[in-house]
Amino acid sequence: MAGWAWFLEAFIGFESYRPAPPNTKCMLCDLHLHTTKSDGVWAPERLLEEVQARGLECFSITDHDCMDAYPVPADLRERCIPGLEVDSHHVGHTVHILAYGIADPGCELMCRLRTQRENRVERMHAMILRLQRLRIEITMADVQAQVTGASSLGRPHLARALVAKGLVQTVQEAFDRYIADEGDGFVALERLTSGEIIAMIHRCGGVAVIAHPLRLRDPAHVHELYELGADGVEATHPTADFAAQAMLRKFALSRGLLLTGGTDFHYPVAERGLGVELERADIEALRCAIERRARVGS
Ligand SMILES: [Zn+2]
Ligand SMILES: [Zn+2]
Repeated sequence: MAGWAWFLEAFIGFESYRPAPPNTKCMLCDLHLHTTKSDGVWAPERLLEEVQARGLECFSITDHDCMDAYPVPADLRERCIPGLEVDSHHVGHTVHILAYGIADPGCELMCRLRTQRENRVERMHAMILRLQRLRIEITMADVQAQVTGASSLGRPHLARALVAKGLVQTVQEAFDRYIADEGDGFVALERLTSGEIIAMIHRCGGVAVIAHPLRLRDPAHVHELYELGADGVEATHPTADFAAQAMLRKFALSRGLLLTGGTDFHYPVAERGLGVELERADIEALRCAIERRARVGS
């Protein structure tokens, strides 16, 4: 939280900062869930069983860069807000944007993400070729052997393959010697900026929410993403303590932004089940925003 103190002053004002009042109009929801369709450990069916068992009133499966877990079964559809978590970059740093309300699998955003996935394979071939030219004996099959679930192909897989073949001792060494940004084996991956992704989400009838803002490299990025058109912030997330949640809530209310939250579930954690308490009014506002965007887009 220390680094966020100036954020309060710059964008909210210490004077106006108060913890959120205790409220009684909450519902158990989870708008940030991963499955084996990206890097979660549970298949969609298993996750949906848990959604039922926990009695979540509203939920969204937000796999990375894909909506392969959709559609959900008819009996859960009313409680579900379709979503995904999109990887983007902002001034050189990774930013995750949650996109809610995307209904068409053939829309510009989903097509673009599919192309990006194909580009990752091309890029991996190019990196392997560079390493082979350095007389490092590594193949695509070695890298593929490191891919678990449906996670998209990236440098960590290549690094682990180099370790598995005994060509380096550690993943860190693989990066340091070969595949870090300036390394001899590195090939850049073309990614969209956060501004481009937000605009694309809007064009596809969706609502763009800044995922886990506390993970942003620089607190000022929250404000910059707002200026780029983000519609909301994920104020409730395991990375945000009570004070941080209150601060983000205050920021959102002062800018007319939506508020969302979830557990960012990837695998079961003993002390925490699915679901977070969210205000009913915030969920209604999110649903209204999605409806409005869909009307404008159509
Ligand atoms: Zn994320
Ligand atoms: Zn996530």
